[in-house]
Amino acid sequence: MSMKSSYNNIIYFLAIIFLFGCESSSTSSLVNNDNNGSNGGGNTNNSDLPAGFSNFISEYTDVYISGDYVIVETAGVPNHASPYWGAGHPNYIAPHSGMTVNPNSISEQNFKFYIPLNPSVSSAVSSTPLGPIGVSISGVPFFNQYAGPNNQPLDNEIPSFDNYYGHPQQTGQYHYHWEPTYLTFNNSSSMLIGYSLDGFPIYGPTEQATGQFPSDLDELNGHSHSTNEYNDGTYHYHATADSPYLIGGFKGNYGSLNGGGYFTN
Ligand SMILES: [Zn+2]
Ligand SMILES: [Zn+2]
Repeated sequence: MSMKSSYNNIIYFLAIIFLFGCESSSTSSLVNNDNNGSNGGGNTNNSDLPAGFSNFISEYTDVYISGDYVIVETAGVPNHASPYWGAGHPNYIAPHSGMTVNPNSISEQNFKFYIPLNPSVSSAVSSTPLGPIGVSISGVPFFNQYAGPNNQPLDNEIPSFDNYYGHPQQTGQYHYHWEPTYLTFNNSSSMLIGYSLDGFPIYGPTEQATGQFPSDLDELNGHSHSTNEYNDGTYHYHATADSPYLIGGFKGNYGSLNGGGYFTN
């Protein structure tokens, strides 16, 4: 996201100049540079970001608060190798044995996830839509457990998953329907892997405190207890080996996505 960050900084700088004219001495303290690329450094109110959002990888995401939302901006491309980069790309690898490569290829997106800053449980569970339903800490979107409209099961798509269980759809949106194993294998299977669009965090398949698989998940793949990032406890989802894999439905009032479309999975 370095290009976007630089661009934002230029816009910000121009805005400062516009506001303060030639009083350059008064602007230096107001320009809050984000050149180091770390999330949480570019906006004045980011000290209010929930702790879990510091897990986002700043190389691939810009995370900041805007009103009642945490905004996650990302190009949505994987931070790992895949056949879907296309031959000749530095991150291209040959398909793994048994893989059926789909005809799509990875392309950069302009995702802007609007995630509630203060998530709240909804009076009724909402079905997840096709398309992005949350975002991983590397910026790759999460999709739901279906292959298309009318709850078509994923079975026919699973052979097209790459080494890390992701694949792109028709417009080049790379996504995970399952546990993002590039993250969990390189870190921990109990790590915070991302956020649902309803603001509740999503964890890997095991619990941080015990290293065990949870045994009391509800039909949405969720339950409540304290975590490393939420000492006071929170509702959260876990990745599972069986459907719904990530999120069975939105427990909370969900935000929105600006820049992606709901096409197909
Ligand atoms: Zn848990
Ligand atoms: Zn898919």
